[in-house]
Amino acid sequence: MTDLSALPPANACADIPVLRERGQREVFCGLTGIVWLHRKMQDAFFLVVGSRTCAHLIQSAAGVMIFAEPRFGTAILTDRDLAGMADANEELDRICVTLLERRPDIRALFLVGSCPSEVIKLDLAKAAERLNSRLLPRVRVLNYSGSGIETTFTQGEDNALKAMVPLLPATDDKQLLVVGCLADVVEDQFQRCFEALGIGPVHFFPARRASDLPPVGRNTLVLPAQPFNGETIRALVARGTTVLSAPYPFGVEGTTAWLAAAAREWDVAPGRFAAVTTPMIERARKGLERHRRHLAGKRLFMLPDSQLEIPLARFLHREMGMDPVEIGTPYLDRQMIAAELPLLPATATLSEGQHLERQLDRVRATAPDLVVCGLGLANPLEAEGFATKWSIELVFTPIHGYEQAGDLAEIFARPSERRARLRV
Ligand code: SF4
Repeated sequence: MTDLSALPPANACADIPVLRERGQREVFCGLTGIVWLHRKMQDAFFLVVGSRTCAHLIQSAAGVMIFAEPRFGTAILTDRDLAGMADANEELDRICVTLLERRPDIRALFLVGSCPSEVIKLDLAKAAERLNSRLLPRVRVLNYSGSGIETTFTQGEDNALKAMVPLLPATDDKQLLVVGCLADVVEDQFQRCFEALGIGPVHFFPARRASDLPPVGRNTLVLPAQPFNGETIRALVARGTTVLSAPYPFGVEGTTAWLAAAAREWDVAPGRFAAVTTPMIERARKGLERHRRHLAGKRLFMLPDSQLEIPLARFLHREMGMDPVEIGTPYLDRQMIAAELPLLPATATLSEGQHLERQLDRVRATAPDLVVCGLGLANPLEAEGFATKWSIELVFTPIHGYEQAGDLAEIFARPSERRARLRV
């Protein structure tokens, strides 16, 4: 597709039935988002107010390098805090002030709530207010929850961005705002592409510096780059912005449709759109081709984890020829995936939430060729003979846009390539 037309639907009815399940779930909490958020916002520090478990999670997920000065840490709540015997607020203020004295490069401090801070009802919004009265304008203190009681995995990013929305300055200028944390290399590619199409000004949220806040207003057109930032998008709508509905920029089709949604708003001529995108589409198609033979016709089962499952299943089905058996998502935000739903194959089961045992029974009964799941399930499933792919790789690797389409396909092709090599 090289023009501005809509994608041909695979399943004309977007109202496909959803299997809703509630029960034990196997998914990371929202603290995990700190790993990619701290890499993106280079003047931000993320202070988890939590337990040793939270500290272990975040350190092992981030693979801390001892030579680097990390921009995240955990203020550990001790038994005395949990029992209400110590004033956790006083201690938190002291830790924050000491931290910021040691790190003059920090301009934004995120206090991140956890299960323990939630259970003892430590009011981090009040703590942020208190600290701001001492630390502004040098440092802005914000707060959000990454607790496993309230959030799963990628919802941590949504909460962090939503906390920043009230701070965004106002503008009435026409502009594009791309929302969702993108690797710098991807942001640069999209920026060049928008420039070539004559679309602009373009801002990215979050920016590379948390203190660099993009302006928003009634002439701001919001283009979501990640499907899991629904609360942030709704907060931006409340600031007067308009959201462009499009599939997400995964694979050739998704990227083209995503760019076309912006191009229509800037009246980009179809000829110009084709001239800019065709060379990139051709390169991306070549990148996909060599992985297609490992993926075409293979049956796919996606367990609910990152909320990327629906757009990725669409890409794997339509461009790589895979046959999704079940597409699980932790939470189905219809507003955020309105343009994706009609592109899913009618034969796939779409499930929301999780009842782990029942879902694992369905994995065994359907015997898929590839299971996409969280880290905790991958090894047991491999031991049962299933090929698996860790969904966490999908949020740590640049996968958006034309240039990354081949890498995205490779992530899913690798397990079957490896198995094929082992069989030789
Ligand atoms: S926030 Fe909750 S779920 Fe997440 S690591 Fe801490 S205790 Fe565990």
